[in-house]
Amino acid sequence: MQFCDLGAQYRAYQSEIDEAVASVLASGAFIHGPDVAALETELAAFSGAPAVCACANGSDAILACLHALGLEMGDEVIVPDFTFFATAEMVVRAGARPAFADIDAQTFLVTPQSIEAAITPRTRGILAVSLFGQMPDFVGIRELAERRGLWVVEDAAQSFGAKRDGVASTNATVLAATSFYPSKPLGCYGDGGAVFGEESLVEKARIFCNHGQTGRGLHGLAGINSRLDSLQATILRVKLRHFPQELARRSEIATAYSQGLGAVTSVPALPAECASSWAQYTLRVKDRDRVRSALFDQGIPTMVHYPSPLHRQAAFAEFGNPDDLCPQSIRAASEVLSLPMHAFVSQEEVERVVDVMKQVLTGRD
Ligand SMILES: *Cc1c(COP(=O)(O)O)cnc(C)c1O
Repeated sequence: MQFCDLGAQYRAYQSEIDEAVASVLASGAFIHGPDVAALETELAAFSGAPAVCACANGSDAILACLHALGLEMGDEVIVPDFTFFATAEMVVRAGARPAFADIDAQTFLVTPQSIEAAITPRTRGILAVSLFGQMPDFVGIRELAERRGLWVVEDAAQSFGAKRDGVASTNATVLAATSFYPSKPLGCYGDGGAVFGEESLVEKARIFCNHGQTGRGLHGLAGINSRLDSLQATILRVKLRHFPQELARRSEIATAYSQGLGAVTSVPALPAECASSWAQYTLRVKDRDRVRSALFDQGIPTMVHYPSPLHRQAAFAEFGNPDDLCPQSIRAASEVLSLPMHAFVSQEEVERVVDVMKQVLTGRD
């Protein structure tokens, strides 16, 4: 059993992917090719976002959003204390300061209340993460932002394909960033990412990602080189066609895990208004090291997303959030465990994970 079986996915779509890749190789258009523009149109249609700009990875997509919003040196941006490192890393890269907000104990997500507690006079915006594939309460977060004069960006690196209150991830805020890293719900065969949002802001992101170029040979600002290449774009176009079925399968697997394990441990909460893209199926266990190694011995791989709250990372020491602001993040970091999750987990594998988990957690069989 694999934690994320990209080989099985390739075998399922092999003829389509091989054909698409061969056609790009024959075309000679490797950067800014027609597949990139076509992918951008298809991504916008999928999520409903007004405009899309593909780029080289999800981290750059976040950086481009922050740039487009005019973030300045010394500004503060609120980020979750419990997320992948890159969320806060890009705030620092943009010259600003991350301020860490705690998470909700049930959903692992930031809330309007936890965000409000982290606002200071220097706060300019909120970079909220749709962690593990589930969107936070963006209606409440946008209301708070409006009241306090802040912008909101969604870090949708894990949540492309998710919905909340009928609104798709990447279309709930003025700007959003996603990642096509291979193991994300919609992944390519290398690095990739995209910025979604209002046309004028996405245009700023596009210029930033292409050396600040505003016209042929004209550079209005010092940007970066961050482009999605045509090979990745054509692979993503194939996978996007199969994505709705993959999302449905992920959701079936998550439901089966939760039904099987709900009685023996605390399973992920899924509020009725949420459709998760199930980037990860992450639950809490006491005694995590013992559970992990017992599962490993039975051939079941697991991962820990994430072992440390961000405010305790050495890289962020100078932004020093006191521990008492983020107690739920600290607790989650010591208890979370992610189970195998991808669209090709078989029914037998799901049942085996559930059976072995139950044995390990209850000490019985
Ligand atoms: C993966 C991820 C990123 C970074 O995406 P890359 O494509 O790896 O640069 C940012 N934020 C979150 C929450 C992620 O999971």
